Amino acid sequence: MKKTIIYSVMTLSLLTNLYANEDKNSAQIMQEAFAKMKAVAQMSDKNQKTDNTNVTDANSTNVSAFTLGKYGTFKFEKANDNVYIMHGPVVSPNKENEGFMNNPAVIESEHGLIVVDPGGNYNVGKKVLAEIEKVSTKPIIAVFNTHKHGDHWFANKAIVEKYPNVDIYAHKHMIEVSKEGEADVWYGILNRATKGNLEGTKEFAFPTKPLVDGDTIDIDGQKFVVIHPKVAHTDTDLVITHENSKTVFLGDNVMKGRLGSFDESSSIFGDIELLEQIKKDTNYTLYVPGHGMSGKKDETIDPFLNYLKVLVEEGQKAYDDDKESYEVKDEVLKKLKWMKDWDAFEKNAAAHLNKAMLEMGERELESQEDEE
Ligand SMILES: [Zn+2]
Repeated sequence: MKKTIIYSVMTLSLLTNLYANEDKNSAQIMQEAFAKMKAVAQMSDKNQKTDNTNVTDANSTNVSAFTLGKYGTFKFEKANDNVYIMHGPVVSPNKENEGFMNNPAVIESEHGLIVVDPGGNYNVGKKVLAEIEKVSTKPIIAVFNTHKHGDHWFANKAIVEKYPNVDIYAHKHMIEVSKEGEADVWYGILNRATKGNLEGTKEFAFPTKPLVDGDTIDIDGQKFVVIHPKVAHTDTDLVITHENSKTVFLGDNVMKGRLGSFDESSSIFGDIELLEQIKKDTNYTLYVPGHGMSGKKDETIDPFLNYLKVLVEEGQKAYDDDKESYEVKDEVLKKLKWMKDWDAFEKNAAAHLNKAMLEMGERELESQEDEE
């Protein structure tokens, strides 16, 4: 009822505008009027949540936008030649983000689409898939998963449901450990964090095509090369370069705006080594982190790399002074205060410092064994 009145008022003002703006053409005026009608309809929608009347809006293709409460609306945006990226919210998995916090990417080839890290569960995957279809209605012909953490690959399930024969590439060790129980561990973590949004994710859609360091893959004219550092963010990482567009998918070896955790399979020293190696290559134009905004090489890699270097530098001083990480933690965090707004900074930076110092101990032991 209210809407009928609103539309009548809008029609009246539209007619008034038609007569009042002789310097504008009628198409322009119609367009403006429709935009106003749309805005008013949206406002009235907000005010009357109980009103189920459907607003048909010929101008909008956004009817089923992927929206996550206070985190806003997510869609794929063109980031490089034929590469589209949806940057997820840089926060830990929770109920409101439904477990979506990574950066799914789509590469468009002549006959299909190639997806990198579609997201963290089946339900999110269905929404990401709907957004992929707004980029192009070509079929999905391949998927890459950067590592074993479920927030990146559990949404394979939604893609496999629609494309049962799709090839899913990951490092061979990622496939092994995921099947051996890592997937179940991550299912538990994400299901608890999202208060049950993992429903439908099992049976897991594991990757089907194992890769090793240095493999080159050609998919419908799109060339990819993968780097597998033995240990960096985990022991299952792939850094994927898309040669056609000169894009590097870094996985969680780089995060921006959010500190994830380094688990027991990872290495802070290994990650530094990997990032130093990647930085030497000047051939690429776009770098996509596992979490946070994509960008040019230095702006994407340096904040996280510098962070890791501070941990090692300050950790080494404490280690040499026979101090424990908790004794120097506050001092080290002060040196990193430029990162204080990063999600999970305090919690994870302290844990990372501790890990860096543990690795120092292990490295010292190893070098002593080598000498013997
Ligand atoms: Zn990860």
